[in-house]
Amino acid sequence: MTDNTFEALGLNSGLMSALKVAGYDKPTPIQAKAIPHVMKGADLLGIAQTGTGKTAAFALPILHRLAENRVAPKPRTTRCLVLSPTRELATQIADSFKQYGQHLGFRVAVVFGGVKYGGQERAMQQGLDILVAAPGRLLDHIQQKTLDLSSTEIFVLDEADQMLDLGFIKPIRQVVSRLPARRQNLFFSATMPSEIGKLAGELLQDPIKVQVTPQATTVERIKQSVIWVEQGRKRALLTELFSDPSYTRCLVFTKTKHGADKVAAYLEAGGVEAGAIHGNKSQPQRERALEAFKNGKLRVLVATDIAARGIDVDKVTHVVNFELPYVPESYVHRIGRTARAGEKGTAISFVAGDEMKLLKDIEKVTRQKIPMTDRRNDKALAQLDASIMAAGVAAKATLPEREPRKGEGEGNRGRNRRRNELRPSGGGQPHRVRKGGRPGEVVDAPKREYDPMASERPKTPREPKVREPAPVGEIKRRPRRPSNGGKGFGKAKQA
Ligand code: AMP
Repeated sequence: MTDNTFEALGLNSGLMSALKVAGYDKPTPIQAKAIPHVMKGADLLGIAQTGTGKTAAFALPILHRLAENRVAPKPRTTRCLVLSPTRELATQIADSFKQYGQHLGFRVAVVFGGVKYGGQERAMQQGLDILVAAPGRLLDHIQQKTLDLSSTEIFVLDEADQMLDLGFIKPIRQVVSRLPARRQNLFFSATMPSEIGKLAGELLQDPIKVQVTPQATTVERIKQSVIWVEQGRKRALLTELFSDPSYTRCLVFTKTKHGADKVAAYLEAGGVEAGAIHGNKSQPQRERALEAFKNGKLRVLVATDIAARGIDVDKVTHVVNFELPYVPESYVHRIGRTARAGEKGTAISFVAGDEMKLLKDIEKVTRQKIPMTDRRNDKALAQLDASIMAAGVAAKATLPEREPRKGEGEGNRGRNRRRNELRPSGGGQPHRVRKGGRPGEVVDAPKREYDPMASERPKTPREPKVREPAPVGEIKRRPRRPSNGGKGFGKAKQA
């Protein structure tokens, strides 16, 4: 393709109008490479991550094909099925289909766990053109016979490597066993571990392979720096950064979920509007925190790698690595959250003694030397830390509740949890507690079920529990809680 324009791709005119409104001038590399083949019905193996424009790379040609061959979908069927590992991502993908297909009149729905079945069943009852689904709830619907995949024409598996991480490989195989043999398959993964390669080999027929590596260009647009500081001073340093008003929308990455909570609480005590997003937060809490971040009510979102993956927020001004990731590629993913869509961005990494080695690895992989400032033994940080600690102690009631100690009663725990649910940092708007329900149970999460975000990296991915009749079933797992979640920062070590 010499002429890199959407016009040259020959997309449906309705799609072209939507692209104009979206302000997309030209296809991204993965779009230019993939769209012509997918439009012709070929299978595709896309090695690409979020941020490359991969959603439009499959959504545009799928919408084009469905529009070329318009048929009314039969009740409880879908013409196209997209499998996505998380609810957030599934929702974003469905929104993209709706946005690009706004002039085509297609029926698009999204299904995932943690919400009531009724609305999803009603949407599928009429028949769908496009269904975006997380695997667990999809299998439930298949089993309940509220969805039949036997006439699905196009199957998309997105973020396959994350599916593997979350223990979804067997559920995916169960879904695939319900699809007709004759279909188009599109398979996307950021990395290709051997098990994912094997799955791709089973699913795809003579696929076109498209690989894009956006890192180099993205990384070049990001102003990167490193600050050498004691581990115990990082939180004060972080708070200090926010005295700069240009930090309007900042993502902070921590290694652990518990760490994310502690950093967010500390920032709040220091007067910076912050929220945390990770696998131990409920779905409504995550959605509220994300929404507050998007609409500017929160200046900071503190996240773990997995929780942040797939979250698409524009205009992130700064990314701060509170701790460096173990894998250099994660550094590139993290800082790629800023400088999206041609904007400029800043990435700052805090490095304490033992993280120097991680920094060296990152510099090797990204082939650059990141400028470093030394803020060790900085008295101003020590003072700031002491004053925020004092403010935090004074406002202890507003800090995240710790988990109950062994032997503490359920009643007390319920009260703490309820109070916690109503805290703004618990995720924005308070939500109601079901009268007579379990402590902490919330009205908008009527059924506790498998939540892919609840476990950052399950040690032994649990297979779905098979209900009658086999072979499909559902997975139920209680989200793990942090072992000492919310001890606040009273016990923080001084370096
Ligand atoms: P994705 O990799 O699908 O998560 O897309 C990342 C971001 O790029 C999204 O915010 C899209 O709206 C945006 N995007 C996708 N394709 C284009 C394009 N051709 N031009 C400009 N922005 C795009």
